[in-house]
Amino acid sequence: MAKTEINVNVCKGCGLCVEVCPKKLISLDKTVLNVKGYHPAQISDMELCIGCGMCAIMCPDCAISVEK
Ligand code: SF4
Ligand code: SF4
Repeated sequence: MAKTEINVNVCKGCGLCVEVCPKKLISLDKTVLNVKGYHPAQISDMELCIGCGMCAIMCPDCAISVEK
């Protein structure tokens, strides 16, 4: 199973990873503000992640790491 992690305090809530995930596993967590004052990305249903790495490639702030 792939392991995808988001460094929430680096995230600026731009939503690019939300758009690009082919499995639609990423959303912005509207219940949380990070240290920069943004709603950070979160991943649900990690067991469905295929480890494609698209979210990590797309993130302009390198906030996401993917291990296959
Ligand atoms: S690695 Fe691919 S499937 Fe997994 S969360 Fe990122 S974009 Fe979605
Ligand atoms: S692409 Fe990066 S900065 Fe933008 S919401 Fe996703 S994790 Fe946050």
